[in-house]
Amino acid sequence: MPIDPAEQPVLDAVTAGFPAALGALGRLVRIPSIAFPGFPDEPLVTSAEAVAQLLRDTGAFELVEVRRSDYRTEDGSATGSPAVVARRPAAPGRPTVLLYAHHDVQPAGRDELWDTPPFEPTLRGGRLHGRGASDDKAGVITHVAAVTAASHALGDDLGVGIAVFVEGEEEAGSRSFDAFLAEHHSVLEADVIVVADSDNVSTTVPALTSSLRGNVTATLEIATLDHASHSGMFGGAAPDAVLASVRLLDTLWDEDGAVAVAGLESAVPPADGPTGPSDEQLVADAALLPGVRSIGRGSVAERLWYGPSITVTGIDVTDVVNASNTLLPSVRVRVSCRVAPGQDAGEAFAALERHLRAHAPFGAHLAVTDVDLGQPFLVDQSGWAARAARSALADGWGAEPELTGIGGSIPFISTLTERFPTAQILITGIEDPDTRAHSPNESQDLGVLRKAIAAEALLLARLSRRVER
Ligand SMILES: [Zn+2]
Repeated sequence: MPIDPAEQPVLDAVTAGFPAALGALGRLVRIPSIAFPGFPDEPLVTSAEAVAQLLRDTGAFELVEVRRSDYRTEDGSATGSPAVVARRPAAPGRPTVLLYAHHDVQPAGRDELWDTPPFEPTLRGGRLHGRGASDDKAGVITHVAAVTAASHALGDDLGVGIAVFVEGEEEAGSRSFDAFLAEHHSVLEADVIVVADSDNVSTTVPALTSSLRGNVTATLEIATLDHASHSGMFGGAAPDAVLASVRLLDTLWDEDGAVAVAGLESAVPPADGPTGPSDEQLVADAALLPGVRSIGRGSVAERLWYGPSITVTGIDVTDVVNASNTLLPSVRVRVSCRVAPGQDAGEAFAALERHLRAHAPFGAHLAVTDVDLGQPFLVDQSGWAARAARSALADGWGAEPELTGIGGSIPFISTLTERFPTAQILITGIEDPDTRAHSPNESQDLGVLRKAIAAEALLLARLSRRVER
């Protein structure tokens, strides 16, 4: 469908503003705004101030402020990270949209795994490389550039109310998120919430995320002996903790690698839901080595988006250079379990813990600690905002959007819906399958960024004309 000629100025403003948007993204990437415990707070403050200035420079907001929640951890040590809020009121009868992104990033990890320095924005092959270049500083820039373009093109006709929430601790688990929403509810209240922190089908096909798995993460300590002893003296009769751990972990999956824990449920894919990639596409996207097969049963969508999964993400045992002929008395294991939409994360954790306790071999002792729960979510696609978003994505990208699930979780989404129960949620994104968010060599495709800005600017323009809420 051709663009309404009245909207051409909006798209022209996106094109005109793109070099400035890219420059601003590069400046944000230079700030190592990591909210993990043990990292300094100062870059988070710098980064929040930089985002606030970008929002002020749009000239579209009555209020732009850096705020922190009063939230404290149990030991009283940490406060919430600095977040940025902004607001412009809606014209009478027009809706208000809340634009969400986060300005904190994952730690860079080992520098030698990066082809370019992680906090040095580098343009190569049509992509901007650097930690946070995509997740989620490109989300921040999408909001800034879309507001700038819509407000330049429409002037006083920009009738939509706009609230902005740029969080500073998403990668660190959004610990003060709920408290922040409660404390700053009136600034953030909206009819529609756009969360620009997800994925696209490819660099040419946009996606609207419609289903998210939840997450249960826990640390297990498996102990069999009071202290270490010589494997030559006792091996073969005294069970060591590695043996017990390997046997226990093996019970979590069946022969196909599918989850074998009673009580961890799968969802029935909705009839109009996303169909998902082919197995060949999965093999390519996840970079399976030659000859390595995918695991589980059913379609890729059923496995990635509507079924549970269990991954061991860390094990504390003696490392190989320090290996000696010793029976290890205890082992620590970090287990991450993805929860299908429809199942409560607490219920899923209970099922996992029941399974582990029932299957601990040789009477091994089991302690379960550091439990984190994130709820799964299915996004309602039937509202007017979802329809408006689909048409804006189609016109901004020049390709019909697909509904997709994501196998990961965005735990704060369910918090958002609890705090703003009447708001319609739209999960858009700036990533594509080659983004490598959270990994070395993260990068943002510039074409995707431009199209994401165009789609969001069109959405703001269209919501400016929407009369009934
Ligand atoms: Zn993110």
